[in-house]
Amino acid sequence: MTDFIGVDLTLESYWRSIILYGENVASYKFALAKSLLELASAGKTFITLKELALPFSRHLSEHLRVCDKQIISSSSRFLDKCREFNAGNITIDELIDATVKLGFNNVINAFHNVNRGELPVRFFTDERRSSNKGIALTNNLLEVVERYQYRNLPYEVEARWRLVETAWELNISRNLIVVSYDNDLGLLFTGNRRRTAITSCRDALSGYQKGKCFYCFDDISIDEKAENLADVDHFFPHVLSNYGIADPIDGVWNLVLACKNCNRGKKGKFDRMPHRRFLERLQQRNDFLGSSLHPLRETIIQQTGKNSEQRVRFLWNNYVQAITGRLINTSWSPEFEYPRAF
Ligand SMILES: [Zn+2]
Repeated sequence: MTDFIGVDLTLESYWRSIILYGENVASYKFALAKSLLELASAGKTFITLKELALPFSRHLSEHLRVCDKQIISSSSRFLDKCREFNAGNITIDELIDATVKLGFNNVINAFHNVNRGELPVRFFTDERRSSNKGIALTNNLLEVVERYQYRNLPYEVEARWRLVETAWELNISRNLIVVSYDNDLGLLFTGNRRRTAITSCRDALSGYQKGKCFYCFDDISIDEKAENLADVDHFFPHVLSNYGIADPIDGVWNLVLACKNCNRGKKGKFDRMPHRRFLERLQQRNDFLGSSLHPLRETIIQQTGKNSEQRVRFLWNNYVQAITGRLINTSWSPEFEYPRAF
């Protein structure tokens, strides 16, 4: 996690570090994150707990319908209220009252904690002791909403939430969780015989690339309706799987998001091998995945090695095999690159 913010000291990087690297004992952080993004875009700056309770409990109730495991501990009175609401046993007003009382105990305090420390940047301040009782959104958050990457952030939160709750629900030894990719559907799955779709591959990977094209660092979009929707690119081209190189070729370790121009524009990559210098970038991106708790971490470890050194060797060995056999066109680079984002 320490390198994640790295050269890119932007508000978006701090935000993403919370979503991707904050501790998870419950999914409340994701519900709060989604609520904050919504409320900030509505232009409000002071949010009472009651106002916050509406989107917050809505997101949790919606997720409970898909996945009942939203907390590591065995029970939560607040989640029970959400379940009662889903079952039609209490009204929305009763749910909101319960949320104000029970829902925010830890999440408001802990939201900015990453790696056992507090980030130097805050997206809201705790005003529960003021007469209005609520939170005040900071200029940082309002600024994020104005910026390009804002449109990617809700998708990224949702994808991370789906991955975490799926890992909890499976409740099998975490070392056994492997996430796989379906090329045709663009979705990440878990399980072998009974596959469960988790989330869009784009949404899951975007945050680790800071919403940028892997090769040229141009802004990308993960909104399926957007014109500049990112492509999911196989760094080691798919054709190599015919030679048993870069196995598993569809593993998340080999999937990067690229702008259309880099992937299949006039001088695009197509099925060429990227220039050697991109190996280091892939290594870094995979280390980002490897230090973000389950289940992508376990997947990266199983597929490419348990630490950074092993993973460097894995990439390098495959690269050497791919180029020495002259199996493939090598040394593709984009025509132009924006400043490094990671
Ligand atoms: Zn690009």
